[in-house]
Amino acid sequence: MTRHPNLAVIARYAGGGDGLDEATVWSVEAHLENCADCRARLAGSVGDQTRALLDRIASGLDVGIAAGPPPAHAARPWSAMRRRWFVWALVPWLAMTVAVLGCAYLLDRLRPDLPSLVLLLAPVAPLPGVAVAWSRRADPAWELVAGTPGAGLAMLLRRAVVVLAVVVPALALLGIGSGISMALMLLPSLAGTAATIALGGVLGLHRAATGIGAAWGVAVVVPSMATMNLPVVLSPGSIPIWALITAALVAVTATRADGYRWLSSRD
Ligand SMILES: [Zn+2]
Repeated sequence: MTRHPNLAVIARYAGGGDGLDEATVWSVEAHLENCADCRARLAGSVGDQTRALLDRIASGLDVGIAAGPPPAHAARPWSAMRRRWFVWALVPWLAMTVAVLGCAYLLDRLRPDLPSLVLLLAPVAPLPGVAVAWSRRADPAWELVAGTPGAGLAMLLRRAVVVLAVVVPALALLGIGSGISMALMLLPSLAGTAATIALGGVLGLHRAATGIGAAWGVAVVVPSMATMNLPVVLSPGSIPIWALITAALVAVTATRADGYRWLSSRD
């Protein structure tokens, strides 16, 4: 169901957004993109002074455009598409993730008596990539992207898919011939990704990824290596539970989709 912002909110937005918080302004902007009715209401809410200002700017722009140089060629469509799905900052982190998994695989081959490190690291393998996928620190275009109505859960999910498109085949490849069930190798990494995104909506992605990674390391990886046994959470019987957890986390994230407009201002 579409919830239209009420007239008072639209009138305030038209007046420069005084008294509206950042999240409301963004949600009004995102709504206006897709709702012609509300755009018409917004046009009706603009005062005479603003209308005169807009007319003045429009005629000024017309004069400037007529006198200026010809427009530059628009960016090629694939380039805009690439930006929606991918940031270059992901490359070193994905390379590091694959390198760490490769080292874990080598260790597994050298010390078959130890619990499989690849399996132990699989649930947290996508976390560094997901943390960087939408980060003020890692993305030079962050300010620009955060200012657009397109920023939010859909963009984060697109970039998480890119991370998984690298991590999942790497895990699958390393899992071949190890005798470990593919579901047990891949489902926990999907659950780790879903948990980071779900918790990231509250804490920010960096903090969520760091917290989940540290908790997994302390609660599962270290005890497993110390006792030389795989934990019960990574036994074949736990596969349905991982599937359930993943589905539950995806459902929670979907119900909170609006909260991801805030994400930019937190981390
Ligand atoms: Zn509307």
